Amino acid sequence: MIYPYPVDHIRRIGQLRRRLTRAGLSGLVIHHLPDVRYLSGFTGSSAALAVTSRAACLFTDGRYTAQAAEEVHAAKVQIVARSVSEAAVEWLAVQPGVELAGFDPAKTTVAELARWKAALPSRLRRAFLTALPVPMVEPLRLVKDEDELAVMVEAALMGCKLFDHILGFIRPGLAEIDVAGELEHKARLWGAEGMSFETIAASGVRSALPHGKATMARLPRRGFLTLDFGVILKGYCSDMTRTVYLGKPKANERNAYHAVLEAQETAVAAVGPGVSCGDVDEAARGVLRRAGLAEAFTHSTGHGVGLEIHESPRLGAGQTTKLQSGMVVTIEPGVYLAGQFGIRIEDMVAVTRTGGQVLTPAPKALIEL
Ligand code: ZN
Ligand code: ZN
Repeated sequence: MIYPYPVDHIRRIGQLRRRLTRAGLSGLVIHHLPDVRYLSGFTGSSAALAVTSRAACLFTDGRYTAQAAEEVHAAKVQIVARSVSEAAVEWLAVQPGVELAGFDPAKTTVAELARWKAALPSRLRRAFLTALPVPMVEPLRLVKDEDELAVMVEAALMGCKLFDHILGFIRPGLAEIDVAGELEHKARLWGAEGMSFETIAASGVRSALPHGKATMARLPRRGFLTLDFGVILKGYCSDMTRTVYLGKPKANERNAYHAVLEAQETAVAAVGPGVSCGDVDEAARGVLRRAGLAEAFTHSTGHGVGLEIHESPRLGAGQTTKLQSGMVVTIEPGVYLAGQFGIRIEDMVAVTRTGGQVLTPAPKALIEL
């Protein structure tokens, strides 16, 4: 697979090098695959990237010889018949001028670290590898460039088109998995590489489960159906939720839906550069509090999205991280009343220079089917 659009990986590695220098490090091992892909363009399932102030080398195995040659231009490539991350650490240890190499402790297991140390000459085992005090690649990935945004717009619009399609498919008596299966089948036919996560289709009392994966449960004649799904396009994830009603909603169900919708729209309107994630969360939470539903909103308001379905920042209570132009976040308040029903509405929103741009413009007014 040829990388589908021109990405300046040399620039991204350059940005990483500036961060490395500022942190007093001369080398870095990167083995979290989305980070490797972001920096090098390599899309295979086995790879580690080693970066120094002068050189960069990607390690993968023999299955990917041709693919790595096609995809990777900003780093040298070495094909190895052993652990790719061990090979990367060993390579760093023999690079001129590399005294200290960083690794991301959040992405490294205790067992991996032990193996890396064992692969080093004994004099380097104690002090050569150092856990990064803060992530190095994640801050780069937070702010999307124009190419990334274009792909994410496309992925989000495919989600909207799927929702529109599924409205004509839903009817009482179908199993939740029929609905999820239809969504996923269409997504593949329309060019998605896969789903961003296991599709959530939760109907009736099951809609009160915030992560109700589709089951054999039948759609009721009367009740909510929550659909939370996303596609992967050119590596980037989309994520959206809509809750529809089968039959005629009761007054309390309608009121709860309107409260969630108002919370969601208030939080979307709060998105903008310089706004703290906690303030966006509070915009949604405040509306639900005034509606007497604060207790029923049991999760945070949203999360960053990109090459991974859940990225930084987290839009939760008290989060002081400030939104920046180019970030893409979800806004997804919900209420969950055990034994009764649940409602969630989720959009993807790109932070612009002046506010927020909704990437998932599917209808949000309560749809009765
Ligand atoms: Zn979602
Ligand atoms: Zn989400």
